Amino acid sequence: MTDDHLCEEARREPLIPLGQAPRNRRELWRRKALWIGVWLVFLSSPVHDLISGDHTTGGTIAGWLGLAVFVALYLSLLFRDMGERPYPSRLVGALIGSMAVLATVLGLALGSDWLGLYCYVSVACGMVLPLRWAFWTIPATGVMLLLVGLRTDEDEALNLLILVLLIGFAMTGVSQLVRTTVELRKARATVAQLAANEERLRLARDLHDLLGHSLSLITLKSELAGRMLPDHPDKAAQQVADIEQVSRQALVDVREAVTGYRRPRLAAELAGAQVALTAAGIVARIPAEPDLDGVPEGTESALAWALREAITNVVRHSGAARCTVDLVRRQTLDGPALELSVEDDGSGGTGKGPGNGLTGLTERLEKAGGTLEAGRVKRGFRLTARVPVGPVADVGSRS
Ligand code: ADP
Ligand code: CA
Repeated sequence: MTDDHLCEEARREPLIPLGQAPRNRRELWRRKALWIGVWLVFLSSPVHDLISGDHTTGGTIAGWLGLAVFVALYLSLLFRDMGERPYPSRLVGALIGSMAVLATVLGLALGSDWLGLYCYVSVACGMVLPLRWAFWTIPATGVMLLLVGLRTDEDEALNLLILVLLIGFAMTGVSQLVRTTVELRKARATVAQLAANEERLRLARDLHDLLGHSLSLITLKSELAGRMLPDHPDKAAQQVADIEQVSRQALVDVREAVTGYRRPRLAAELAGAQVALTAAGIVARIPAEPDLDGVPEGTESALAWALREAITNVVRHSGAARCTVDLVRRQTLDGPALELSVEDDGSGGTGKGPGNGLTGLTERLEKAGGTLEAGRVKRGFRLTARVPVGPVADVGSRS
């Protein structure tokens, strides 16, 4: 891989892309290791103490063992908490309690170099425990630190006290942030799911309304025709003619409905864009509810096609880290227009001009009386599709 490639990779892939789901196991582990491992710096004092040979051989061995168990408890607690299967709350309590006991025993037995272990107890309380528990266990950790400090080194304990309280409470904030982000991610997936459900409901409703009525009418008239056939064949023939007319109309209605369903809808495409970009690891900014008052269906679907093609291109060609979609009403010289823009911060393309996708899109937009502009911008690529819309009360316009 060349240096350019490496730089490009680094630019695209921040070390911890906050707010996005990890794309693979490696990224998940990298994030966990960074969040959790950064605190291991406080181990330098106890390790140094053990290496310096100030203790008896038995003491040193016990010290290493105690430290290994302590670190293992800490790491397993936090790794599991950030994973899919956190420990049950009783076990969490027991593990944090064991860490506190170990920190106290090691501190009392081996001296003030070991007081830093309380920082881990505090981090674990802040990260893993629910807020109401963290609020009293973090100060309690501070009190234990002071008590052990009284027996070892008061000044060191007082210095560490602020640190223990600060990082403990800071970690409660981080933990809340992580939880909120996870919930937000789930909520986004739900919104996309709801958009799909809404579409399915519409299909069910339309099928019922379209076919329910005509099929009942056909059944009724067929029965009538059957009954009339022996004695009144002319009236039966009239019923059969009615049946033919109703079924023809039903066929026309179904055809129209199916065409309507094949036509992409802007709301569904916006939800789809969010999902596609997120899946590609691109941070997406997508407007929530499109304001489509007075926008004819054909015009809406032309924009929906434009959005679909633009998003496919961003995913395939751009290598971008961010992508912003905007949908605004503008007042142009030719009257009011609806403008969809998709801008990314990627490579900006090869500049070779439009291919099949963009050419087809230009034709589609021209049919709706609109225009397409697509090309490199200062940083990345921008596609703008503009379509005229009827003169409508400009509700929610941002032009
Ligand atoms: P195709 O996708 O079939 O190559 P398009 O007409 O959709 O054809 O796109 C034409 C070209 O424009 C692409 O090959 C690509 O080089 C460039 N392009 C389009 N969108 C982007 C984008 N978001 N970022 C970078 N390049 C792009
Ligand atoms: Ca394309």
